Amino acid sequence: AAKEAGRNGCVVFDQALRDRTAEWAQVQRDLGRAIDDGQFELHLQRIHRPGREAEGAIAYEALARWKHPERGVLAPGSFIGVAEESGLIVQLGTHLLKIGAAHAAALDAPVCVNVSARQFNRALVDDVEQLIDLHRLRPGQLVIEITESAVIDAAYAQTVLHGLRRAGAQIWIDDFGTGFSSLARLSSLTVDGLKLDRRFVHDLDSERGWGIATAITGIARALDIIIVAEGVETERQLERVRELGCHAVQGYHLGHPEPAEHEIERLAAEPHRQLAGSHQR
Ligand code: C2E
Ligand code: MG
Ligand code: MG
Ligand code: MG
Repeated sequence: AAKEAGRNGCVVFDQALRDRTAEWAQVQRDLGRAIDDGQFELHLQRIHRPGREAEGAIAYEALARWKHPERGVLAPGSFIGVAEESGLIVQLGTHLLKIGAAHAAALDAPVCVNVSARQFNRALVDDVEQLIDLHRLRPGQLVIEITESAVIDAAYAQTVLHGLRRAGAQIWIDDFGTGFSSLARLSSLTVDGLKLDRRFVHDLDSERGWGIATAITGIARALDIIIVAEGVETERQLERVRELGCHAVQGYHLGHPEPAEHEIERLAAEPHRQLAGSHQR
C-alpha cells in the first residue's frame, strides 16, 4: 500500500511539474518574443525633493511594464521572477537599461534603473559605460538600483560597484532594510544612496517604526550617502519623511508611474525646460 501511495504521489507530482513546466515554457517563449517585438517599456515615477515638490521632479524611477498583446499591461511581479529563473532577465535587463538611458537623455534628468542580481556583473559595467557615452549622460545621471541580494560576494560586488561608478553611474540600494545584509558588509560597499523601503515609511507614526527609520537614516548619514523614501502615499507620511531628513521622496502621493512619453511631453510643454536629446527616440 505504501508503495502504491508513493507511486500515486509521484504521479501527482509529475502532473504538477508538467503543468508548471508547460506554463513556464509558455511564459519563457512569450518573453523571448516579446523582447524582440518591443513589447516591454519603462514607466517613470517622479522623485521629488521633500518640501520642494512644486519645483518638479529631480529624478525618475524607471519601472518595467509588459504590453502583452492578450493580457494587457503587466507589472513586473508577473514576469521578472520567470525572467530571472529562465536567465532571460539578462537579455531583458540589457534591453530595459538601453531604454532607461535613452529616457535619461530625453528628460535631461537622472533616471534610476532596477537591475536584477543576475545582471550585476562586468557585462553590466560595459553596457553602462557604452550607454553613458552614447547619450553623453552627465555623471550620476544614470542610477543603478540593486537590492541587497545582488551582494552575494562582497569583494566581487565591490569590483562591479567601482566599475559602475568609474563609468559615471550612481548606485542606490533598493528596498533597504528588507534584505539580510549585515551592516558591516553594507558599510564596506561604495554606494551613493539607500532607498528606505515603503514598509518603514508606512510605520512612522508608531514609536517603534519611527525609531527604526531614525536608525536607518542615521546609518545613511554616517556613510554620507543620500536617502530616498519610497511608497509615500499620504501628506502625513510626506511630513514625517521630511522630519526624518530624507533627501528625496517617491510615492503615489506625488505621482504614479506613467508612460515615459507623458513625462517627456509634459516637460516639453514647460517653456522654461530645455529638452535635451529628445530627438533620440
Ligand atoms: P521597486 O524597485 O521597489 O519599485 C517600487 C514599486 O513600488 C513599483 O512597483 C511602484 O509602482 C510601486 N510604488 C510606487 N509608489 C508606491 C506607493 O506609494 N505605494 C505603493 N504601495 N507602491 C508604490 P512595480 O512597478 O510593480 O515594480 C515592482 C518591483 O519590480 C520593483 O520594486 C522592482 O524590484 C522590480 N522591477 C521593476 N522594474 C524592473 C526592471 O526593469 N528590472 C528589474 N530587474 N526589476 C524591476
Ligand atoms: Mg527600485
Ligand atoms: Mg524600491
Ligand atoms: Mg520596493
